[in-house]
Amino acid sequence: MDCVFCGIISGDIPSNKVYESENVLAFRDINPMAPVHILIVPKKHISGADALDEGNVGVVSEIMLTARMLAEKEGLKDGWRLVTNVGEHGGQTVKHLHFHLLGGKKLSVELA
Ligand code: 5GP
Ligand code: ZN
Repeated sequence: MDCVFCGIISGDIPSNKVYESENVLAFRDINPMAPVHILIVPKKHISGADALDEGNVGVVSEIMLTARMLAEKEGLKDGWRLVTNVGEHGGQTVKHLHFHLLGGKKLSVELA
């Protein structure tokens, strides 16, 4: 499988890691859209939020709590955003489930 995030998880592709657990990895986005722009991913390959099922409840919950923990660690006391893009219309370019943790400035309110 040719997946850039699986390559980052395995260590074959270098990344700026900020947090790692048994099931979750977080690393800085290569093309940041905000002063803090971290990607939080399951270590297991899941193609996107459209492929989630009940077996993934644990890892998705852990990703949410990881976002909360990293937002605090990164000093995002004025707020932050957690986003996952799905499919072509959602703007998903990497087909491995990932959540963008964004903050460090007042983010655009444009959602569409
Ligand atoms: P998407 O558009 O799929 O929601 O987001 C994919 C994100 O992955 C983009 O923000 C892009 O900058 C980031 N990205 C793509 N390739 C790499 C990479 O090799 N390393 C890192 N750190 N981020 C990447
Ligand atoms: Zn993958």
